[in-house]
Amino acid sequence: MDKIKIAVLGAGGLGKACLEIVAKKKEAKVVAICNSGGYLYSKKGISLKDLDRLKPSKDSIGEIIRLKDEFEGIFAALPNLPNEFVPGVVKRFIKAGYSGVYTCALKRTTAIKLMMKLDSSLKKNKSVYIAGCGATPGLLSAAAVLAAQSFIKVEDVNIRWGVGISNWNAYRATIREDIAHLPGYTVNRAKRMTDRDVDRLLNRTDGKLVLRNMEHADDILLKNTGVIDSLKKVSVGGVMDTRHAKKPVSTTMTLTGTTFEGKKSSHRFILGDETSMAANVVGPALGYLKRALWLKKHKIHGIFGSTDFMPMILR
Ligand code: NAD
Repeated sequence: MDKIKIAVLGAGGLGKACLEIVAKKKEAKVVAICNSGGYLYSKKGISLKDLDRLKPSKDSIGEIIRLKDEFEGIFAALPNLPNEFVPGVVKRFIKAGYSGVYTCALKRTTAIKLMMKLDSSLKKNKSVYIAGCGATPGLLSAAAVLAAQSFIKVEDVNIRWGVGISNWNAYRATIREDIAHLPGYTVNRAKRMTDRDVDRLLNRTDGKLVLRNMEHADDILLKNTGVIDSLKKVSVGGVMDTRHAKKPVSTTMTLTGTTFEGKKSSHRFILGDETSMAANVVGPALGYLKRALWLKKHKIHGIFGSTDFMPMILR
């Protein structure tokens, strides 16, 4: 069996984790990867240690676009600051005529809305994009779709995540994008912050970010699938500890609803505390990438969300 050939955009925390995870899979290999300074292509497959050999490039995404016929799936693990960045990158692939599949771990509702606008161009290229395939949205919003099946009416979906990383430098975009959700901060302000500004902020909070009422696309994805009738019924918040790998709190998704007998109850999905953010983001992104290839094979094209289909298992 031919292995699925994947291009990974971004070689930061999630991009590196993707290389490590795919190295343990029989069905796929990463053949192209880039960061902001360079790119690498290898027909044989790329491992973590190959990142030392990135070829310098001013437009590394452009180099990956030139290689568009050498892979069938893209995992976008790029920062999304500003909100238009990843949609803009996808537009470049579309314009170049790439016909394949994409998944991403985009988080913001605004960003996913921008992605939805690309539906007809993706269809024209016979491409499939499954958006919001990380942990939240992704694993947890998909779990909410399953949980909703027991109820006639869903009252709310409450997502509380906990992430522990030993050093913010390993997941720079994730941390900046989380900061953008703090009161008084915006996406643009977080983008403009220097590394010293981020260090200073984290020093004031003992390395922790406590986030409430995040603008997360779990809301729009769950509304589109019919789980909820109003975006207000989904709330997302979390605690990020940038100084300890141990999770500060367990990650939970609680869906509350009323059954056909009139009983009010909740289903709760709890992630194992030992599972890292990378495991819970890249695992689903690859599972959805395999689903996207399945959809393309069945001639179903366009943009979808992680709540529209079950991910498959990449072996
Ligand atoms: P990171 O900062 O560690 O890595 C980003 C990578 O992108 C780096 O290699 C950087 O060099 C590269 N890059 C930046 N600009 C580029 C450009 N113009 N051309 C080519 N490469 C470029 O980021 P991360 O912490 O791995 O996060 C990646 C994304 O995943 C973020 O948007 C983050 O919010 C998202 N994320 C989603 C979830 C979820 O549950 N949905 C969880 C965690 C992270």
